[in-house]
Amino acid sequence: MAYFEDMSPCTYFGNWSDRLVSIGWLVPEKEFETGDVSKDFFDALFSMLKKPWQPFVTAGHEPCRFCRFTHGTAMLRYLDGEVSIGTNNLFVPDGERAFVAPSSIIHYIDSHRYQPPAEFQAAVLRESSSSSIDLFKKMKSLGITQQQA
Ligand SMILES: [Zn+2]
Repeated sequence: MAYFEDMSPCTYFGNWSDRLVSIGWLVPEKEFETGDVSKDFFDALFSMLKKPWQPFVTAGHEPCRFCRFTHGTAMLRYLDGEVSIGTNNLFVPDGERAFVAPSSIIHYIDSHRYQPPAEFQAAVLRESSSSSIDLFKKMKSLGITQQQA
């Protein structure tokens, strides 16, 4: 997986790198923030990841490089649902920009003590209650729109 420092421009998608802010693109070779997060945040992140808005579909499961032997899980089950790990990316609009995180972020938080930036946590807590239509409109206003695969 590509590495981007938290809060740096995300060039992974080729487009929109001036508006996309990287969150949770971790690799074992680079240090990252660790610490507690609230259950409210984790629950909000989980609910957004159940149906992530994204401009295109990516294929293939990206293994977790922090899990030494099992390489992490491809499916995280929690509460009343499940999300696939290491496949999708999560886009979270935040004013004039959008955060983008790999779906593995929820595994990094759960199993590897990752603590994402406070601004990202606030945006997830706010946007988790937005409908997918509202999210689509916000992303569209940033010029980030669905593309045909
Ligand atoms: Zn792992």
